[in-house]
Amino acid sequence: MGKDHYELIILGGGPAGLTAGLYASRARIDHVLIEKGAPGGQVLSTDWVDNYPGFPEGLSGFDLMEKMTSHAKRFDVNILTKEVVSIDLNDQVSKKIIFADDSVITCDALIICTGASPNKLGVPGEAALSGKGVSYCGTCDAPFYRNMHVAVIGGGDTAVEEADYLTRFARKVTIIHRRDELRATKILQEVVYANKKIDYIWNSRVIAIEGEKEVERLQLVDNDGNTSSFDVQGVFILIGITPNNALLPLEKLNADKWGFIQTDTETRTVVPGVFAAGDIRSKLMRQVVNACGEGANAVIAAEHYLKSKSS
Ligand code: NAP
Repeated sequence: MGKDHYELIILGGGPAGLTAGLYASRARIDHVLIEKGAPGGQVLSTDWVDNYPGFPEGLSGFDLMEKMTSHAKRFDVNILTKEVVSIDLNDQVSKKIIFADDSVITCDALIICTGASPNKLGVPGEAALSGKGVSYCGTCDAPFYRNMHVAVIGGGDTAVEEADYLTRFARKVTIIHRRDELRATKILQEVVYANKKIDYIWNSRVIAIEGEKEVERLQLVDNDGNTSSFDVQGVFILIGITPNNALLPLEKLNADKWGFIQTDTETRTVVPGVFAAGDIRSKLMRQVVNACGEGANAVIAAEHYLKSKSS
């Protein structure tokens, strides 16, 4: 039977949460890291990570997260596998974590690392070819597509920025958008319209992603119902991301309009003693490397908060 109160609770076991756990354990803070499944988060299902420093040959997302989990375990991070359904921050001194079985634990300080998930198209072939030509991150995977022809799905800021970035590697990038104009801010539109390696298929949606072992073609349908086949070697699905925030009191935490938690540069939210790190934070860049940094930062900020409370 575990305790019912901790100095620090870390919610989520992805890169931010595991790093927070490591720092909390090494700082000898009375803590628990709560994760509903296997630690690792979104990266567990990332085929290959080539931009995490210290691994010059690259490694699979699974291997990277296994290493981070073993590292946390080596320092006796206290990991509790249990599903949280809500958080009650009405009593700011003692924050309440409520589990699916109705049990409750409390803490003085809380670090929220619940992450975010890229939106999926939900079409045949997408899941099976994920990591085999289907990607949700241009910044992460662009170098795998050197001299290839790839498609970018979406017309928002992310799609447009990543399409531009992809042209540093790909021979050609085709943006496929469901309407006849981009949603992206005008200044970003100007950048892609000036880029000679980018072309467009308007008013069209992807209805299937096909390929024997890797992506070979997309099946498209236009807004008049005409279908066509389009050969590409990669497809970047950049149609927004959804924060994993269902269990969070968003209003109290001053979430931004998309539901990401706003913090100061030290990861402090507007609620004293509550911190947010990793992809759940409102920010521009969502990568493993900054998630880890924020996890460490959040523990230092939490430690300051705990000390100020006890003095
Ligand atoms: P977003 O602005 O929501 O754009 C998503 C795009 O995907 C839209 O063009 C949308 O089409 C399309 N889309 C959505 N669901 C789709 C589906 N099922 N099938 C096909 N297309 C679909 O998302 P985002 O680009 O990730 O940006 C999120 C927020 O972050 C935005 O506020 C953005 O400004 C901000 N951001 C800022 C920067 C920057 O300032 N440099 C960079 C990246 C992101 P419709 O247009 O038809 O709705």
